[in-house]
Amino acid sequence: MTGPLLAERTTLRLGGSGRDFVEATDEAELVDAVVRADEAGTPVLLLAGGSNLVVSDDGFPGSVVHISTSGVHVEPGTGSGADADADAWATVTVAAGEDWDELVAHAVQHGWVGIEALSGIPGSVGATPVQNVGAYGQEVSQTITSVRCWDRVDKKVRTIAAADCGFGYRTSRFKQDPQRYVVLTATFRFRLDDLGAPVQYAELARKLDVEPGRRAPMSQVRDAVLDLRRKKGMVLDDADHDTWSAGSFFTNPFLPSEAAERLPADAPRCDQPDGTTKISAAWLIEHSGFTRGYGNDRVTLSTKHTLALTNRGGATTMDLVGLASEIQTGVLDKFGVWLVNEPSLVGCELPRP
Ligand SMILES: Cc1cc2nc3c(=O)[nH]c(=O)nc-3n(C[C@H](O)[C@H](O)[C@H](O)COP(=O)(O)OP(=O)(O)OC[C@H]3O[C@@H](n4cnc5c(N)ncnc54)[C@H](O)[C@@H]3O)c2cc1C
Repeated sequence: MTGPLLAERTTLRLGGSGRDFVEATDEAELVDAVVRADEAGTPVLLLAGGSNLVVSDDGFPGSVVHISTSGVHVEPGTGSGADADADAWATVTVAAGEDWDELVAHAVQHGWVGIEALSGIPGSVGATPVQNVGAYGQEVSQTITSVRCWDRVDKKVRTIAAADCGFGYRTSRFKQDPQRYVVLTATFRFRLDDLGAPVQYAELARKLDVEPGRRAPMSQVRDAVLDLRRKKGMVLDDADHDTWSAGSFFTNPFLPSEAAERLPADAPRCDQPDGTTKISAAWLIEHSGFTRGYGNDRVTLSTKHTLALTNRGGATTMDLVGLASEIQTGVLDKFGVWLVNEPSLVGCELPRP
């Protein structure tokens, strides 16, 4: 294996090297690297910020393509017939390798409404449509209008409208079919205003001292979100091992209503339009006996947040997968619910129930 240890490129600081490593700084290099690997039958790992990846200690037996493309293109005043004021919108196309939180900071500064609650999320712009990044009541699917990508099956560049991206809770067609699409750019459409979008998330509304559904100045929303996230170890900080993570390790499960009714009445839940019920994975973990800081001297649950699995400094991927598997089994035994991992696992697996 050659190239840098992937432990140096992932926020968990775990993972061996790739067989080879390509730095793609523009779109032509990115597509070329993927096409060359595909033609040679070499597996490809698309790597951007490394904040949602768990890579095996043995590394990756193929080409690691690091996406560091750049460019932000703004088209002001592209409102269409239904919009009362065509000038009150901006259409913004961003290269995959751009830093997500820098885009959010820029959006807040320039009055682009709709991603302010997604402040502080690490990683690249191109990865956001992959798992339909979301937090504090916003998801990128609310502002993305289209995603331009290299289609590795049809071998051509395609622009996929948001309605065809298969966006759902922490998922999309890009996540469902990971060997097929390389996101090249994402296009967002932002309303222009000083006030952010209506605050949907109760904890954020309390922090801002507004009623849920009301609006607040965007800069205040960003500051409030960053403050809430820091307290949970959800903003990267080299000095804080609670942030040596991939964010939330498990997604919140959606259960059929009969299964949800069997859970204790105090389990936080939210009924969905499709008849399922969304349950808090953090609550299930805590009430299965895995409290904050649970683990050993190498891997633990964050001491601030039970959903994040963290590297305390000397961990291996095996250690992390071992803890994840213990939690999955514990929650299954206690509540009959199988938690599903949110980050992509590369060369390592969690057992199935
Ligand atoms: C402290 C912390 C907090 C977090 N908080 C949140 C949160 O609040 N909400 C949330 O949704 N997520 C959160 N995450 C997860 C993560 O930050 C996001 O999923 C982010 O979008 C990943 O971006 P990345 O560039 O780091 O992707 P990577 O980790 O490099 O890649 C993630 C996956 O996407 C693929 N991929 C990356 N770029 C592309 C591309 N251009 N085309 C196709 N596939 C691609 C990779 O192959 C991989 O499968 C958090 C993570 C951490 C460490």
